[in-house]
Amino acid sequence: MSVIASQLASFWRSQNEQWPFLREHVKALDQLELSSIPFPGFSIRVQFNPARIISSGAKIDKASLEKRPCFLCVSNRPAEQEILELLPGYDVLCNPFPIFHGHLTIPSKSHQLQSIQGKMGDMLRLCELLSDYELFYNGPECGASAPDHFHFQAAPSKVMPLFGDLDQRTLVRLLYTSKALTVSYAPHYLRSAILLEARDPQSIVEAFELYYDLQARLQPTHVEPMFNLLARNQSGLYSLVIFPRKAHRPSFYYETEEKQILLSPGAVDMGGLLVISRREDLSKITSEVVRRMFDEISLHDLSLLHAYRELLLRENR
Ligand SMILES: [Zn+2]
Repeated sequence: MSVIASQLASFWRSQNEQWPFLREHVKALDQLELSSIPFPGFSIRVQFNPARIISSGAKIDKASLEKRPCFLCVSNRPAEQEILELLPGYDVLCNPFPIFHGHLTIPSKSHQLQSIQGKMGDMLRLCELLSDYELFYNGPECGASAPDHFHFQAAPSKVMPLFGDLDQRTLVRLLYTSKALTVSYAPHYLRSAILLEARDPQSIVEAFELYYDLQARLQPTHVEPMFNLLARNQSGLYSLVIFPRKAHRPSFYYETEEKQILLSPGAVDMGGLLVISRREDLSKITSEVVRRMFDEISLHDLSLLHAYRELLLRENR
């Protein structure tokens, strides 16, 4: 066990002992109902997790945000919540509304907007430190329930199907390759996904910044191009998956009564683990609904991929 892994294990142990609210939610994880929906070459998992209503039902409009105290600011956190120091500028916290065992929230120490610009290097550094974890980022309009306070989250490896799916390589097609960087995409994965891989984190940082500007030009009215990000470091190889988005929530989220499904997708859902917080929605999640959801929220844009390839060739990253 690495130093950090054992540090994390004792951090969870002591937080579980001292914080009954967390302990209760962690315990509940073992009772969650899980199902799986097969698609050609991969599956989507569905988890019924009633505690997550806090996130799927979150109101993130400006007025609602201004009315509530920011739960990621240190002064408003529960008294029992402790900090693990791992990277300067960030607090590593146990998520009191976990989707899986070991679910971490990693907010910046200062209250600043959710914006990934200039922070990809931090995300990859955290991947290196948390080598048995996958780091994820929800854009301010793509599932972040605190778009007013910058934060990453982390999940133990493979709790989401994503990297297991992509590691098989049958789902990915090469878009661009150089000595330092490989860029691929997944054309038959329901949701649009772009995979960046490199041994040198700076190659990913630079290639991500190029991508960011391209998508920002397509979505000029948004505070940030809409996407979810998932990253890991495995044996020195950094992987970053970008899930380009065009909508915050699928249309059925806004329906009423029978037609409504309270599914508000973030990085975990894009990673292949759909989180449902109301029991009545469980039977409504069919393969057809999953397809429709990804169609409605995912940005499928071949010309964006072509433009990205051209740009990478020109810059020769
Ligand atoms: Zn805050």
